Amino acid sequence: MSTGNSVIPSSVLGADERKLVAEFVDERIRPVATELDETERFPEEIYREMGKIGLFGITVPEKFGGFGGTALDYLFVMESLSYGYASVADQCGLVEILGSLLGNYGTPEQQEQYLRPMLSAEKRCAYALTEPGSGSDLGSITTRAVRSGDGWVLTGEKIYIHNAPVADFAVVLAVTDPELGKRGGISVFLVDVDQPGVSRAYHEHKMGQRASQVGGLVFDSVPLSADALLGEEGKAFGYMMKVLAKGRLGISGLSLGISRAALDAATRQSLDRSQFGKPISANQGISFSLATVATELRAGTALSVEAARALDTGAADAETLCSMAKLYASEGCVRHADAAVQVFGGNGFIRGYEVERLYRDARITKIYEGTSEMQRLIISRAVLKGAAA
Ligand SMILES: Cc1cc2nc3c(=O)[nH]c(=O)nc-3n(C[C@H](O)[C@H](O)[C@H](O)COP(=O)(O)OP(=O)(O)OC[C@H]3O[C@@H](n4cnc5c(N)ncnc54)[C@H](O)[C@@H]3O)c2cc1C
Repeated sequence: MSTGNSVIPSSVLGADERKLVAEFVDERIRPVATELDETERFPEEIYREMGKIGLFGITVPEKFGGFGGTALDYLFVMESLSYGYASVADQCGLVEILGSLLGNYGTPEQQEQYLRPMLSAEKRCAYALTEPGSGSDLGSITTRAVRSGDGWVLTGEKIYIHNAPVADFAVVLAVTDPELGKRGGISVFLVDVDQPGVSRAYHEHKMGQRASQVGGLVFDSVPLSADALLGEEGKAFGYMMKVLAKGRLGISGLSLGISRAALDAATRQSLDRSQFGKPISANQGISFSLATVATELRAGTALSVEAARALDTGAADAETLCSMAKLYASEGCVRHADAAVQVFGGNGFIRGYEVERLYRDARITKIYEGTSEMQRLIISRAVLKGAAA
C-alpha cells in the first residue's frame, strides 16, 4: 500500500515533504478510516498531528504560520489525504479556505487571534454560508447583522456546516444592508461559537464522509464587537467567490483521491479474486472497466493541475477551470467508486470493505462547494461570454 504514486506534481513541496505526506496517509490515516467511518468521531489525534507537521494552510504565507506553497501543492495534499480518507482531507480544505480569507483580509489582531491557532490546530474553524432557505443561491441569505453602537448584533440560522459540532469559531456570512443584497450588502464576521446566543443546533448523520462533523448553528441576537467584521463591510460576495474557486480545486483533489483509492482497491481485487478458474482481471468486462477509470483519473488529474497552475499564475480563466476540474473529478469519482464496487461483487456492498465506504464518501462531492449544476452554470456562462466577445 503506497501513496507515493500520486501523479500530481508539486512546486514548493519537495521530495522529502511529499514522502512525509505519503507516509502520514499510509501510517496514520488509512489504518483508521473504517473505524472513523463507523464511529463518526472527529479525528482529533490526526487533526493535531496535521497542525504539527504543517498540513494546514498550504497556500497561506509562512509569516502567518502557513506552509507558503502554491495551489498546485494544495491540490497534491488534498488528493493524497483523500486517498487516505476524505473526511481528513475535508479538514485541510476547510482550513485552507478560512486561512486564505484571514490571510488576505484579516487585521493583524484577527490573524493573531484566529489564523495562527487555526493553522497549528489549537482552534477549529467552520465556515457558515448555507441556510435553510439559501443553498446554491447564496445571495438570498437572511442571517442579519445589524449595527449596534460600535459593533453588531447577529441573528439567523446556518445549516449543513462542516465542523459546527466541534468548532471554536465560525466565519459567518450575514446581510448588513438588505437594500444592496449581494451587490454590497453582505459581510463576513468572525464569531466565537462558545459565546452566549450561539447554539450548535444538531449533528447530522450522513451517507458518507461520516467522520466530518456537520451540523447547524443558530445565532440569537449575538452581540459582536466592531472587530468581528472580516475585511470591509459589504465585500463578502467578492471575497467568497475568490476563495470558493480554491475550495473547488480542493474538492477536485479530494475527488481524485477517492478515484485513486477506488482504482487501487479494484485492481488488487481483480487480481486476487478468481472465478471460473482464473482471476477476474482476465475478463475484459473487468479489465476494461479498470482501463476506463485509469484513463478518466488521468484526464481529471491533468485538468485539475491546469486549474491549479491557472490559479497560481492568476490566469483570467482560473475560476472557470476550477469549476471544470471540480465538475469532472467529482462526477468521475462517483462513477469510479461505483465501478470498484462492481469489481468487488457482493463484498463491495458490505460494510468494512473500503470500496463500500468510497462509494458513500464520493456522493457528496457533486453537491458541496457548489453543486454540479452550479459548476455547469459558471462554465456555460464563460463559454457563452467567449462566443459573444
Ligand atoms: C455534508 C455537507 C457539508 C456541507 N458543508 C458546508 C459548510 O461547511 N458550509 C456551508 O456553508 N455549507 C455547507 N454545505 C451546504 C452545501 O454547500 C449545499 O448543500 C449546496 O451548496 C447545495 O445547496 P442546497 O442543499 O440548498 O441545494 P439547492 O440549492 O436547494 O439545490 C437543490 C438542487 O437544485 C439544483 N439547482 C438549484 N438552482 C439551480 C439552477 N439555477 N439551475 C440548475 N439547477 C439548480 C441544485 O444543483 C441541486 O441539484 C454542506 C452540505 C453537506 C450535505
